[in-house]
Amino acid sequence: MAGIASDPVTQLRGVGPKLGAKLAEAGIYRVEDLLFHLPLRYQDRTRVTPIGAAADGADVVIEGEVRVADIAFGRRRSLVVRLQDGTGTLSLRFFHFSAAQKNNLRPGTRLRCFGQVRRGASGLEMYHPEYRKLESGETPVEEALTPVYPTINGIGQNQWRSLCEQAVSRLRHSAPRELLPAGQALRFGLAEALIYLHAPPPDAPQEMLRDGEHPAQLRLAAEELVAHNLTLQGLRQEQQKDGAPPIPGNSTLMQRFLSALPFQPTTAQTRVMAEISADLARPHPMMRLVQGDVGSGKTLVAATAALQAIAGGYQAAIMAPTEILAEQHRLNFQGWFAGLDIEIAWLSGRSKGKARSEALQRIAGGHAGLVVGTHALFQQDVAFQRLGLVVVDEQHRFGVHQRLSLTEKSAPDVGRPHQLVMTATPIPRTLSMVAYADLDCSIIDELPPGRQPVETVLIDNVRRQQIVARVAGACAGGRQAYWVCTLVEESDVLQAQAAEATADELQLALPDLNIGLVHGRLKPAQKDAVMAAFKAGELDLLVATTVIEVGVDVPNASLMIIENPERLGLAQLHQLRGRVGRGTTASHCVLLYQSPLSANGKQRLTAMRESNDGFYIAEKDLELRGPGEVLGTRQTGLMAFRVARLPEHNHLLDTVQALSAQIQSDYPELAEPLIQRWTGTAREFAKV
Ligand code: ADP
Ligand code: MG
Repeated sequence: MAGIASDPVTQLRGVGPKLGAKLAEAGIYRVEDLLFHLPLRYQDRTRVTPIGAAADGADVVIEGEVRVADIAFGRRRSLVVRLQDGTGTLSLRFFHFSAAQKNNLRPGTRLRCFGQVRRGASGLEMYHPEYRKLESGETPVEEALTPVYPTINGIGQNQWRSLCEQAVSRLRHSAPRELLPAGQALRFGLAEALIYLHAPPPDAPQEMLRDGEHPAQLRLAAEELVAHNLTLQGLRQEQQKDGAPPIPGNSTLMQRFLSALPFQPTTAQTRVMAEISADLARPHPMMRLVQGDVGSGKTLVAATAALQAIAGGYQAAIMAPTEILAEQHRLNFQGWFAGLDIEIAWLSGRSKGKARSEALQRIAGGHAGLVVGTHALFQQDVAFQRLGLVVVDEQHRFGVHQRLSLTEKSAPDVGRPHQLVMTATPIPRTLSMVAYADLDCSIIDELPPGRQPVETVLIDNVRRQQIVARVAGACAGGRQAYWVCTLVEESDVLQAQAAEATADELQLALPDLNIGLVHGRLKPAQKDAVMAAFKAGELDLLVATTVIEVGVDVPNASLMIIENPERLGLAQLHQLRGRVGRGTTASHCVLLYQSPLSANGKQRLTAMRESNDGFYIAEKDLELRGPGEVLGTRQTGLMAFRVARLPEHNHLLDTVQALSAQIQSDYPELAEPLIQRWTGTAREFAKV
């Protein structure tokens, strides 16, 4: 139903070509788009506060008569206007002003002002209030709370207010289309919610609005979450339309493989392997996410999937986010697949020249059954002959579009490859529903037997010497340790310098130890040599930046020191800590913090001390840092919500899921407009 809501914004009063262009840049083309530009918060200008009753720090409206307007020469020149009502006086102070402005504020002029009251040297003051002159007898009435909009592209509050006001008044005649089926427990309709949020009545519960818990906000948040969910479901359906090669399991080969391992798969691994095996046998692409805590043995699960694909005559590709990790997978698979007559090709960012072209040939010719690598697998000239399975390890490092782009690499006659995605750390259910709604989920909720929980302690950096002694003790006992240096700076150079300085300091203090150093500035070959030496036990202590964060597996390492842990998010700390506790000796993690800790920092470190459970830690992380941080910046395009807040709106998720399912089964025609309304740009981002 085209209506006034779909009119271009350029029809509104005050929108010329210049403003129109700015709005378009912000994604606002139609009147309806303005309606979804929602206020961040509200000011209450509905009541005039007597000056005598204005409290320090409060945002208030006052009304009074100008007594004097004078220029004060203090540290900064300012225009000071004394304003008086029957109850008291207050000074307005302007640091930016014009002569005309001063002349306009003659004694006797009546003003209405809005601003924050402060108690200054000369009594009550307001700095740069918004003000207007009142004609004699004029007493304007504000009938709604005043919205404060997100300012984008230099469009000011007054402009947003005027635009949105016009949009709302049009909405009263012609509402944007209602896209949610009736009947779910949402108290507000769409139009009603929009009107309420742009112009809440004076008695609106401000606290509830601030917390995002007003039914009008919940109505929109639910719709937004439904839209996100449908976007991902849509991506999934698009993929599911394609056929994939059905690859049945081969139990004899699997038995042979598993019985050659030095350990038995856990019950959880066995269950997840079976889920994957069944998916692979279907003629549609598997799209499965394996979640499992650090050290739960996800790699083995990937190996059995790869084996099924390869035994079925297809190629499998395994992609890891870092060289170190990809290299480790390669070594693991070489060991596990030895004797099975499987050729493994290797492709990383530094594969160059002849080695690279040979690898490409082996891959394109179909000789290489398994291809292990980094982002390099995405590159244009990488072609597979019969790609049947793509495994993406530590998914949080890749964006949705990267994940999908690998699946485009199959030959047309093969079909779309099956996809297996493995996360570094568990993802709260909340987030997986919106960020990974396109994937089926398997959970490895068990650690291999004999693991001992890592004991975590928080120690102030002033006690650094004790920790150095502790490292000496552990290494003297034949164990190995990590010392992780953190810097918030993105700069590799600074991070490397910090790690170098620490390595020097520790070598001086611990002359008997063999100390290695890895950071992002080392040449890959140097990095590998150090990692290999550490793995072989030739190094006692590895000083590192967070490059060792994911996946690295050295079971003899049982002590981990993390410097300045307060700078890192919980998921990252949990990953780092997961580097120890992989063998059978008791392991320890020392969080060597710099005091004073912020309240949030203290909470995060305490969560680390209290729990080794990645699922718990992920929930905490979400609570303390929000979804963008938890998923990593690459996912934020999909996670930038306008109204919805996670995890605060967790309570909506059952409703969201029900609505989403209902739309897909009964009202599929609503999906596309919903997606357009809420995630139009995010989806384009996902497709890049
Ligand atoms: P993650 O899930 O963190 O990727 P890995 O796959 O790296 O964990 O496994 C961690 C370690 O546990 C590896 O050394 C691996 O060989 C070992 N492992 C995996 N499964 C088992 C098992 N069922 N029993 C004992 N050790 C196992
Ligand atoms: Mg792993």
